[in-house]
Amino acid sequence: MKTLAALAALTLLAAAPAAAPAQPAAAGKAEITWYGHAAFVVRTPRGFVLAIDPWLSNPANPVKDAVDKLGKVDAVLVTHGHRDHVGEAVAIGKRTHARLVAPYELAQQLAAAGYPKEQAGMDTSGNMGGTIRLSDEVSVSIVPAVHSSGFAHGDTPVYAGNPVGFVIRIQGGPTIYHTGDTDLFGDLRLIGERWPVDVMLACIGGHFTMDPEGAAAAVEMVGAKQVVPMHYGTFPLLAGTPSELERAIAARDGKARVVVMKPGETRSF
Ligand SMILES: [Zn+2]
Repeated sequence: MKTLAALAALTLLAAAPAAAPAQPAAAGKAEITWYGHAAFVVRTPRGFVLAIDPWLSNPANPVKDAVDKLGKVDAVLVTHGHRDHVGEAVAIGKRTHARLVAPYELAQQLAAAGYPKEQAGMDTSGNMGGTIRLSDEVSVSIVPAVHSSGFAHGDTPVYAGNPVGFVIRIQGGPTIYHTGDTDLFGDLRLIGERWPVDVMLACIGGHFTMDPEGAAAAVEMVGAKQVVPMHYGTFPLLAGTPSELERAIAARDGKARVVVMKPGETRSF
C-alpha cells in the first residue's frame, strides 16, 4: 500500500504543471488598462494579470460591472489603505483567488475585512525595500510614497502601515512604476537609478498628491521614458490636468512622453 501511495504521489508530481511556462525572454508588450483614478490592470506578455489600486466603481470609470468583467487576476496590488485605492480589492480577491501585494499592516487589515487570508500572507505582503517575486516573469518592488495610510473598517480609520508605490518589473517587457499617492520627494531619483522606468503611472491631481508641476519634477527625477497621468478629474478637487503636465514637462525641457489615457482604455507598452 505504501508503495502504491508513493507511486500515486510521484504520478501527481509528474502531472503537475510548472509554475510558469519556460519561454524565452523575447521583448514583449504589456497591456495596461486604466479604469480611472489610480486603478490599472496590467497584462504581461505571458498573460500574468495584476490589478493595482482597483477602485473600479470610481465615478470616472465608464465600464460598468468592471469587477465581474475582469476575468483572471493573479495579483491585487494596493498602495495604501484609503478607500479610493482599496476599492473592490476584497471582492476581486474572493472572485479571482488573486494573491494580495500590499504593505504588511494593510494586508492584515484587508484580511480582517474579508480578503481571503490564504491569499494575503507574508509571502506576498511586504514593506519598502522588499521585492516580491510573483512568477518567473514578474516581480514587484515596494518603494516609498509620501502620503498617509489609514484603513477604515466602517467609519473608523485604523493604522495600515506606510503608503507605498510599486515598481513592477516584467522579464522581456516594460518596467512600470505606479507612484501610489505621493508628494514629490528627493528619493524618487533613487527609484529611477535602480530600475530604469519605461512607464510611470503618476498622480497629478493635486490637493492630496503632487500637482502637474510636482509630477513633472518627479518624472524628471525618475527619468521615466513615458508617463501616464492618473488621480485627477475624479472629483473637482483633483484639478490637475494632463495638458498642465505636458506644459510643465516642456518647461523643464523634459523628454518624457505623456501618454494620456481615457478611463476604460487599454494600451500596449
Ligand atoms: Zn488617493
